[in-house]
This record gives sequence, C-alpha cells and structure tokens, in this order.
Amino acid sequence: MKAFINERKCPAKDEICLVLTSCPQNAIAYHPDKAARMGGRIEIDLDRCDGCGQCVADCCGKAIELR
Ligand code: SF4
Ligand code: SF4
Repeated sequence: MKAFINERKCPAKDEICLVLTSCPQNAIAYHPDKAARMGGRIEIDLDRCDGCGQCVADCCGKAIELR
C-alpha cells in the first residue's frame, strides 16, 4: 500500500499541513507551483512511503488514502 493525495480536497498550504512533519519516512513535501490552484502542491514520494497510514490519520482535509 502507498499513500495518494486527492488534490481537490487539499488546501496545499505548507503552514497548515500536518503531514509534512508527521510522516515517519519524511516522504511528504511541499512544492510551490504557480500553476497549481493554491500556488503549491503537497507531494508524496512513493519510493519513500512504506504505507504506514500515519498521514491518513493526520491529514487535515481527509485528502489522503492508501491503495
Ligand atoms: S494535512 Fe492533508 S489536506 Fe491538509 S494541507 Fe496537508 S496534505 Fe493537504
Ligand atoms: S503512509 Fe506513512 S510513510 Fe507513507 S506518506 Fe503516509 S505517513 Fe508517510
């Protein structure tokens, strides 16, 4: 299992994103992107993700699922 983010549910603000710090594998990062709706994106590095599910529990917008 890996974590995937539904960008439509995510406000993509690095200052409010809880999972940037709670991922034990440091697999989640914020990337500024002027082309993105909110000016940035939260990205999950699937090579690092071990499917622990911590981000699903912590996500402020219930935007992350394991599959
Ligand atoms: S906690 Fe979840 S919904 Fe909130 S900003 Fe981070 S990835 Fe997006
Ligand atoms: S499932 Fe675990 S390892 Fe994967 S991104 Fe979420 S918190 Fe990080």
